[in-house]
Amino acid sequence: MNAPIIKRPFDVEAIRADFPILARQVHGRPLVYLDNAASAQKPEAVIEAMAGAMRGAYANVHRGLHALANETTDAFENARASVARFICAATPEQIVFTKGGTQAINIVANGLDIVPGDEIVLSVMEHHSNIVPWHFLRERKGAVLRWLDIDDDGAIDLNALDALIGPRTKIVAITHMSNVLGAKTAAADIVRLAHAKGVPVLLDGCQSTVHGRVDVGALGVDYFAFTGHKLYGPTGIGVLYGKPERLSALAPFEGGGEMIDVVERERVTYNEPPHRFEAGTPPILEAIGLHAAIDWLSGQDRAAIEAHERALRDRASEALAELNWVKLHGCAPDKGAILSFSVDGAHPHDVAQILDRQGVAIRAGHHCAQPLMQRLGVTATARASFACYNRLEEVDVLIEALHKARKLLG
Ligand SMILES: *Cc1c(COP(=O)(O)O)cnc(C)c1O
Repeated sequence: MNAPIIKRPFDVEAIRADFPILARQVHGRPLVYLDNAASAQKPEAVIEAMAGAMRGAYANVHRGLHALANETTDAFENARASVARFICAATPEQIVFTKGGTQAINIVANGLDIVPGDEIVLSVMEHHSNIVPWHFLRERKGAVLRWLDIDDDGAIDLNALDALIGPRTKIVAITHMSNVLGAKTAAADIVRLAHAKGVPVLLDGCQSTVHGRVDVGALGVDYFAFTGHKLYGPTGIGVLYGKPERLSALAPFEGGGEMIDVVERERVTYNEPPHRFEAGTPPILEAIGLHAAIDWLSGQDRAAIEAHERALRDRASEALAELNWVKLHGCAPDKGAILSFSVDGAHPHDVAQILDRQGVAIRAGHHCAQPLMQRLGVTATARASFACYNRLEEVDVLIEALHKARKLLG
């Protein structure tokens, strides 16, 4: 039994105080960090957990016959258990540590048994991480990619999805929340449709995991991929969740130590999941850091954080809508605090650079989602993405900075 977690009442200033980097200035201005969909900042608890492990208890994991190896192995496996609890997986064995969200998806794509003509269903709203691994299957194994369109608001049409899933469909691979539009997909409905036809579903949860609470059991999803560095954790670590029978059915990804059972000159057999997919020395310190990030987040009032992020989204959406020289892309009803927009007559890169001079960090570009850019009819957008530590007043700083950009560029 876990001790009941006492949640800290939501207070954005108290949250900010946990993130040392938020105190700094850039170009002589207070930092307004609105690039959270690319990577989030880290609370002191994460920094300290990783530094503390290096100072106090560090060795390689597994097979250890000395105290430090055993302590580190415990810390690593405790991190796995914490991830399982965090996304409501039934057991830690369903959690594979990877080097990021990208690798988690690649493990699934690489592991499926594909013959020419097999079909992969994906949406035009995917991150390249959930596109290119499937292109590999198209190029190398003759798989066919079947693309699900979105409407102008960034919502998907479940009837259209249903029509795309056929007898040759091997998997439906779809985002849980768009990194460009913030649109959330109706995951449980998608899973229901696919399962009715016996087709497994991979959800890309790289964005959704930080903005809402995820229950892989309730979703019924077969595979779920997410990443540490967008969840206030370190880089270099991600997670692949899989149902036991789905993980067992995947061919191994990388070969090396730890993922094997027996190695002989003419024969090799493999370890059980999750270790089968963790060749070589795993991201030990990063797993410890991810555990600290999960503990930190679990100690907050997440419902209040979600409400705060909705307030940020609404304040930003309303303010941007008032600017007749700004076009906001994708206003799906179920949308998180990620806003992509275009400024009339200005290149998004120029906008981002002028904002940077005012201390406001946003991203501009194709956001690793070129098929979505093509669907929107643009080559790039500017994107402001919020986190739990953003103040409502930071929206006003963003808007003021945009006025300045407009003056300089218009
Ligand atoms: C960031 C992101 C990825 C890739 O995750 P990495 O950990 O950076 O490899 C995949 N999908 C989405 C939706 C993302 O936002």
